Amino acid sequence: MRIARFSFEGAVTFGVIDAEAESVAVLAGHPFGEPQPTGQVLSLSDVRLLPPMLPSKIVAVGRNYAAHAAELGHEVPEAPLTFFKPSTSVIGPTENIAYPPFSSEVHYEAELAVVIGRMCREVPHARVGEVILGYTCANDVTARDIQQREGQWARAKGFDTACPLGPWIETELDPADLAITCTVNGELRQAGRTSQMVRSIADLVVHISDAMTLLPGDVILTGTPAGVGPLAIGDEVSVTVEGIGTLTNRVVKRG
Ligand code: ZN
Repeated sequence: MRIARFSFEGAVTFGVIDAEAESVAVLAGHPFGEPQPTGQVLSLSDVRLLPPMLPSKIVAVGRNYAAHAAELGHEVPEAPLTFFKPSTSVIGPTENIAYPPFSSEVHYEAELAVVIGRMCREVPHARVGEVILGYTCANDVTARDIQQREGQWARAKGFDTACPLGPWIETELDPADLAITCTVNGELRQAGRTSQMVRSIADLVVHISDAMTLLPGDVILTGTPAGVGPLAIGDEVSVTVEGIGTLTNRVVKRG
């Protein structure tokens, strides 16, 4: 099932997209638990897709692909390296990445995003599947120069528009070995597979939920494969994850 969040005639709702990605069945309320269709069906072309979730927090994992850690001159860390991106950094599939004026080196990072489906803490390994609603594409947009200059990554990875998510949440997906790519203006820049992750998604959910309560809609970014590089104003950047779809955003000057 593909769950989208969208606006239509001024109202924001969730819906389930059909197999051909032509229509969307409107849901009453939120998509957690047992989704309740209202019976209303809209043409996908008539709605505006929004970020598929507005998370209370985004917990991201750094250096979770060995080849990416190596390209930035780092070892794979002993324990997963985690950081936050704020809720205010989230944009959807129709919005623009606004180049932050304090940086001159903004990079794309294609990532698989995990969307949490129920409140949880200290999730045992065997029950991780129960707390996951589904998966979507993410771009962990990063001001690399600021990241290298500042000890904490809050500004480098947390500026407004630094977390494109979408285009929707796929709930029936085995995330163990999916192709993940990034293109800029149609040119392939990153091509990896989720099977190259140092820590599995289950390991990451266990590790993060050992420390903090995860709420429905919270998002975990699972790291980026090798091939990160710069974006320029005017670029169109696309993240594709096999079995989910493609998230495309344009880079613009901050208005
Ligand atoms: Zn990242």
